Amino acid sequence: MIRIENLTHIYNKGLPTERVAIDNINLEINKGEIVGIIGHTGSGKSTLIQHFNGLIKPTSGNVYIDGVDIFENKKVLRNARFDVGLVFQYPEYQLFEENVFKDIAFGPKNMGLSADDIKQRVIRASKLTGVTLEMLDKSPFELSGGEQRRVAIAGVIAMEPKILVLDEPAAGLDPIGRREILGQIKAYQKEKDATIILVSHSMEDIAEYTDRVIVLNDRKIFDFDTTENIFKRTKELREIGLEIPHITNIMETINKTYKDINGSVFTVENAKNEIMKYIKRGQND
Ligand code: ADP
Ligand code: MG
Repeated sequence: MIRIENLTHIYNKGLPTERVAIDNINLEINKGEIVGIIGHTGSGKSTLIQHFNGLIKPTSGNVYIDGVDIFENKKVLRNARFDVGLVFQYPEYQLFEENVFKDIAFGPKNMGLSADDIKQRVIRASKLTGVTLEMLDKSPFELSGGEQRRVAIAGVIAMEPKILVLDEPAAGLDPIGRREILGQIKAYQKEKDATIILVSHSMEDIAEYTDRVIVLNDRKIFDFDTTENIFKRTKELREIGLEIPHITNIMETINKTYKDINGSVFTVENAKNEIMKYIKRGQND
């Protein structure tokens, strides 16, 4: 579905401020997967994902969507912009229309859809992201920050992209808001069998919502594996300065005393299961 070959991006090439942001990246992401991207600030996460819909051009290397090089010609690039929906960090800063309806309709309108289709899509995307009908008539600037975030995400979802890429979609939201937004993204993935790529600082969110994880470090792919395998490598993650899920820390500590309780656990649900198994074994002895 997405294939990246030898992708390098250098900002300000040839200037004193030249900066290699990502260096010779190779990867493949399959249809319907939820892939997380983690890595410290400046490791190249945002640069990498902006190549997925051709928003920025590789300095060298190629980006293929369904086997087609998206930079082959203008038509292919235009299609890639519709196939791959990109939600920026703090997307609410990009709202600009006089009302919420128009903001959500902006993408579908650019796709050249009929007024009826646009309306359908706005309503579907609003439902999915928790934007209420009353909000649609308001100015986006009358809404709370969390509501604005939903509107911005709805605007991308309304284009019904096959691939949805989100840069820290839950940043700055309270825990309930985080879960709602991420739950809604997951609901979109299920409904459309869409591919989701999720950049996040929160190891809890990565652990709970992703199937596989890309770890970026020093502009390169440090690791790309199933979420389970990634969080087994706690030592390596710590060595490159990344957090691991709090629950994994706790379970590793418990495992030091209680060897029969598995310490390689990265969701609260699995931790509960491990502890319950241990308690039940004790009762049977
Ligand atoms: P991350 O999203 O992981 O924090 P970025 O992709 O934003 O990483 O940045 C990777 C590197 O590229 C950093 O060193 C950053 O300073 C640099 N960089 C990012 N955007 C620009 C830009 N528009 N111009 C110049 N340098 C940039
Ligand atoms: Mg970033």
